[in-house]
Amino acid sequence: MPFYEVFDHTDHEFQAALRVVSCIESNGHEAWLVGGCVRDAILGREISDIDIATSASWEQVESYAQEAGLTTHRTGIAYGTITVCVPLEDDRADNKSVYAFEVTTYRSEGTYGDGRHPDSVSFCATIQEDLSRRDFTMNALAWHPTRGLVDPYGGTDDIERKVIRAVGNPIERFSEDALRIMRACRFESQLGFAIESATLQAMREKKHRLTHVAIERIVKELDAFVLGDYVRQALLDCVDVISPILPELAAIKGFPQNTPYHCYDILEHTAYAMENVEASLLLRWAALLHDIGKPAAHFTREDGISHFFGHAQMGATMTEGICLRLGFPKKFGEQLVTLVAMHDDRLEPAPKPIKRVLMRLDGDEDLFRALCALKRADSLAHAPDFRQRAKSADEAIRVFEEMKERNEAWCIKDLAINGDDLIAIGYEQGPKLGAILNDALEEVVNERIENERGALLSWVQQRLDPKTT
Ligand code: ATP
Ligand code: MG
Repeated sequence: MPFYEVFDHTDHEFQAALRVVSCIESNGHEAWLVGGCVRDAILGREISDIDIATSASWEQVESYAQEAGLTTHRTGIAYGTITVCVPLEDDRADNKSVYAFEVTTYRSEGTYGDGRHPDSVSFCATIQEDLSRRDFTMNALAWHPTRGLVDPYGGTDDIERKVIRAVGNPIERFSEDALRIMRACRFESQLGFAIESATLQAMREKKHRLTHVAIERIVKELDAFVLGDYVRQALLDCVDVISPILPELAAIKGFPQNTPYHCYDILEHTAYAMENVEASLLLRWAALLHDIGKPAAHFTREDGISHFFGHAQMGATMTEGICLRLGFPKKFGEQLVTLVAMHDDRLEPAPKPIKRVLMRLDGDEDLFRALCALKRADSLAHAPDFRQRAKSADEAIRVFEEMKERNEAWCIKDLAINGDDLIAIGYEQGPKLGAILNDALEEVVNERIENERGALLSWVQQRLDPKTT
């Protein structure tokens, strides 16, 4: 491909990045677009961020940018990085107010002792040296509008062959920074590339070093991994490598499910379930973890059939531990645990059972939709004869949407009475009010009382003074 065709020249962000490049170069220095943005441009993928590498020091970049009227932020000066912002020229481009570019002085770096930052940063003279510190050949690329592409490690060939290959000696590269191991896994999941054999071998050899990497760096990569379009194959290929972080997954690999419902081992089933949910963090994580309780819950009957009674609850308890370990936000963790705990519960696609489930979910409609999506994906990953159960999850969503149109009640705020009504008829203020309303809701959900003010008021009145009946 001719180098000038790499980027979409009509893209506003790309044009803004070129402004930063020319601002630096008009002061006698070199600057290049570099790394993942060049890879994604070659692949025709959407570019997430455009990074710039330069021979200028951060102080020089700062002053050149400011002279040109651009704002700068000292986002990583210890590592030679400064962020340069270019205002939008017209508001059609997107809803950002500025385009921000990380501009980093050419550098070669050493080991990551604390798993967060390189222990030492040494700056270097050429773009070639800068590219030699980068993780994979497909990311060791630089591009310039007139000087063209710099590709010292055959990155474009590897992109064409869909290969993830470490730059230089893979054992050394993963010893310097073990996060690169996780990055390779997530690139496989995002791009569908295969990891070259010496690189994969080195990942396996160095995987224990993942436990020294800062957990937030790992989680960022894991999140991107679970969201990838090619996550099914990537999970099967990378589960051993990820095992120091998620040993629960190594335990489901090759674990047989001798039941008529299944045709895959637990890991394969999990990988298919992930593929069958949309790419949202909650759904992909829930699909990844939904069956991790199975090995612990497993027993085999005399006839050789496997049973996994209680695996969902077991999995939910294990998921709680994982959420703590990975530092997930509290609400996200709670939702994940709920989905894992409830994924195997029967869900009859009829109003009453659906309302009961909604009550258990505190009326969280999005979580209900997520539960149905998870159950659907789980069914689709069963043996062919049992996949039609997915229809029942679709049907549950349909029934639920109809219920919404009828404004039916499934949480306290939907009730035709509230706490003030209880106080007005003589209840005392306090936590008991919530419990009474909850009991009233249960009556309504179980269709023993209409969600109607008069009927509810007389029911609560009776509870206040049973003698009046
Ligand atoms: P994304 O599409 O997620 O942005 P990316 O490859 O651009 O992927 P970034 O984190 O934006 O990832 O990093 C930009 C570039 O910096 C990479 O393409 C790579 O050249 C280099 N890089 C990033 N992290 C590392 C690392 N841990 N080790 C070596 N090089 C790295
Ligand atoms: Mg990037």
